[in-house]
Amino acid sequence: MTPEESYDIIVIGAGPAGSTAAMYAARSGASVLLIDKKKDLGSPIQCGGFLPDYEELGELLPGAELPSTLKDIPSSCVHTTTSIHRFLSPNLEPKEFGVEAYVLDRSRFDKHLAREAAKAGAKLMVSTRADSIEADNVSIRGVMGEFNIQAKVIIGADGPTSMVAKTAGLIDRSDNMGRAVSLEYELTGVDIDRDAVEMYFGRDYAPGGYAWIISEGGDAANIGVGIRQPLCEPGVSTQDYLHRFMYEHPRAAPMLEGSSITAVISGIVPVGGAPPKTVEGNIIICGDAAGHLIATNGGGIPTAMVGGKIAGETAADAVAGKCQLAEYENRWREQMGLEIKTSVYVKKLMDGLMRSDPMMSTAMKMLTPDQMKALQRGRLPEPVKKMLKTLNTGIR
Ligand SMILES: Cc1cc2nc3c(=O)[nH]c(=O)nc-3n(C[C@H](O)[C@H](O)[C@H](O)COP(=O)(O)OP(=O)(O)OC[C@H]3O[C@@H](n4cnc5c(N)ncnc54)[C@H](O)[C@@H]3O)c2cc1C
Repeated sequence: MTPEESYDIIVIGAGPAGSTAAMYAARSGASVLLIDKKKDLGSPIQCGGFLPDYEELGELLPGAELPSTLKDIPSSCVHTTTSIHRFLSPNLEPKEFGVEAYVLDRSRFDKHLAREAAKAGAKLMVSTRADSIEADNVSIRGVMGEFNIQAKVIIGADGPTSMVAKTAGLIDRSDNMGRAVSLEYELTGVDIDRDAVEMYFGRDYAPGGYAWIISEGGDAANIGVGIRQPLCEPGVSTQDYLHRFMYEHPRAAPMLEGSSITAVISGIVPVGGAPPKTVEGNIIICGDAAGHLIATNGGGIPTAMVGGKIAGETAADAVAGKCQLAEYENRWREQMGLEIKTSVYVKKLMDGLMRSDPMMSTAMKMLTPDQMKALQRGRLPEPVKKMLKTLNTGIR
């Protein structure tokens, strides 16, 4: 059960990015150690579990080679499915479009992905934390003891506060506008539209982000807010915003009345985009650690898995002498760099509008459902760009 002294690749973090990286690296023939500090993989959950289906993902990331694990999702990992995405403007006008999607049980899904990595040949160790990295040595500590592991390549898939990315000097997350803080409750006893995922905008409930209601099937749902601190009212906490949404929102509160909270979920969402570099020496980063996320909707599961696949394959290729590790940078940017970058640009344009509820309502009224779907995916059709820029000018 104890690890070897050395591996071709060590993957730090067994979330969607890390397990996918480990699976693809092991499938390519590399020796792989995959570690996670969590005692119970996937718990505590830090996610709403919303995942567009394989076909939708093909449209969301048209240049990406999607991992097989995004296609073959066991039914045991799925709470329910939804087919409508509904947006509610600050003045409560709804607008909706179709999106076929899963609502995942993230804790089961994360375990499933880690099992697939182990099946492919990666050595998996939970309750094991990476403390520090020095050259090709990683100090790890956990349930099996303390070890110094040598690895030719180190993959940092350790989430939005990545120790690996910091150690390698790859990220500067001092920018608070680039981090959304999310707080979410799992509820039972709700009376909501089970076929729709709803996103609510408005400064009183979710400044700089949105509040959501996602059905988990039956009378269960997760509701949450993603906000950005610089846009919040002084002295109002994330929990205050979530409680306002839950208890005071004119449309949401009646649907949630009488419900009970079964879980509290919180976390950071890196909405500032990818850093300029994601490779340094023998270290590469992927997933939230590398800002692999669509900033307009805060969705990071598919992008983390695509980043993980590319990281695992490139690391294995580099170990086998087939390419330089630096090739990772080109590969992931080619496959999904544009979508991630555009989504950050769109988010910045939306930030201007989000400072004014009337302006946000006007913009949402003017957008067609198709244009809204494009924006939600981080795309910016030219007429929409013009319109948003004009509205933004009106605010200044
Ligand atoms: C409240 C909330 C709701 C969200 N809802 C959605 C949603 O509905 N749909 C969606 O697509 N995205 C959602 N996201 C974003 C999504 O959860 C992330 O983008 C995704 O989990 C990123 O995967 P990852 O593997 O990069 O990182 P993570 O899932 O964060 O995994 C990182 C792993 O690294 C481990 N780790 C960290 N440091 C160390 C260390 N030093 N040693 C060992 N292990 C370490 C952690 O324990 C963790 O398991 C949400 C995020 C939040 C916070």
